[in-house]
Amino acid sequence: MPVANAYAVRNPTDKLSPYSFERREPGPKDVQIDILYCGVCHSDLHQVRDEWGGSKYPMVPGHEIVGKVVKTGPAVTKFKLGDLAAVGVMIDSCRKCRNCNNYVENYCDEGITGTYNAIERDGKTLAQGGYSTTIVTDERYVFSLSPRLDLAGAAPLLCAGITTYSPLRFAGVKSGTKVGIIGLGGLGHMGVKFAASFGAEVTMISTSPSKEKDARKLGAHNFLLQTDKGQMKKYDSYFDVLLNTISAPHDYAKYLNLLGYEGKMMIVGLPSVDPKVEPFALLKNRRSITGSMIGGTKETQEMLDYCAEHNIISEVEVIPMQQINEAYERMEKNDVRYRFVIDLASLKN
Ligand code: NAP
Ligand code: ZN
Ligand code: ZN
Repeated sequence: MPVANAYAVRNPTDKLSPYSFERREPGPKDVQIDILYCGVCHSDLHQVRDEWGGSKYPMVPGHEIVGKVVKTGPAVTKFKLGDLAAVGVMIDSCRKCRNCNNYVENYCDEGITGTYNAIERDGKTLAQGGYSTTIVTDERYVFSLSPRLDLAGAAPLLCAGITTYSPLRFAGVKSGTKVGIIGLGGLGHMGVKFAASFGAEVTMISTSPSKEKDARKLGAHNFLLQTDKGQMKKYDSYFDVLLNTISAPHDYAKYLNLLGYEGKMMIVGLPSVDPKVEPFALLKNRRSITGSMIGGTKETQEMLDYCAEHNIISEVEVIPMQQINEAYERMEKNDVRYRFVIDLASLKN
């Protein structure tokens, strides 16, 4: 059985430290990937710290995985040895409900099987993520990656990328749509890139004045410092679409007031405390709040192909595995520009 070298936590207050475990031998439809890079998502931190409840340990986080195919089962059709391949937030689903049949497995009636912090559908194996040297996954949940994309920069597309691409597409963002992206972190910076590439008028809504220059470089046309009441007032009832990526506890009303007639706030950020919603802020302009969770297999491949065509990747700081605890501390302090990506070569040999 393939052995994975990894970093894991054993409890919510633990630091990540070396860990090794066995992956299953690839089954008929499985692909074994030698992991080259894995992005560091704020969801990793929420789950490591058990901020959503029910975390399972030992936990090897990581769901922004890119690498090379090193073994394929006999029934695999999409991949051959040496191909670039990627795995995101989901490694399985029921494969028979209406949503699975429509390739929106992210909304499977039975719930997805997460890449880590989940029990696989055999009912016993604890799924382990991409802070590891190798992974074995059914090819349905594995994506093709163009060699045109920088690999480290492409890793975050598997979560930060699809999680922002999907709601912006669902909201019908196109040329002239007034879009506000709330929070310039891993998700937010991809949201700015996608919204700008779809032709929208993009406003970065941030708590960090120091990020204005970067926001504009990423494609934002305007920068709204949300701690400045005067600036917030200027954008009252202005936006068609808001993409809320905030990871920390906050209230929705302040942002709802920025939405114009029939404007929508798409929620992707998952703070540990439920945000307060004020009905009056919702009623005005017939506003709505919509949630969105990653994307299905079909749309994830479409997003990766779109990125290859338009040369869209994430802005990354590549780190060796051994620096992951410092990276978490920096993420907690809102000091990420704009995604950490682990180079798994640091765990080989
Ligand atoms: P991140 O890189 O840490 O970025 C979060 C951003 O939120 C920060 O850069 C900051 O932007 C803003 N922020 C932080 N504290 C804030 C506060 N108190 N008030 C207002 N804004 C604040 O995190 P990420 O990896 O992008 O993840 C963002 C959230 O999305 C997390 O909760 C994560 O779990 C969730 N997520 C959801 C999905 C999904 O499928 N829906 C997928 C992946 C992640 P500024 O400095 O610009 O203010
Ligand atoms: Zn994620
Ligand atoms: Zn299903």
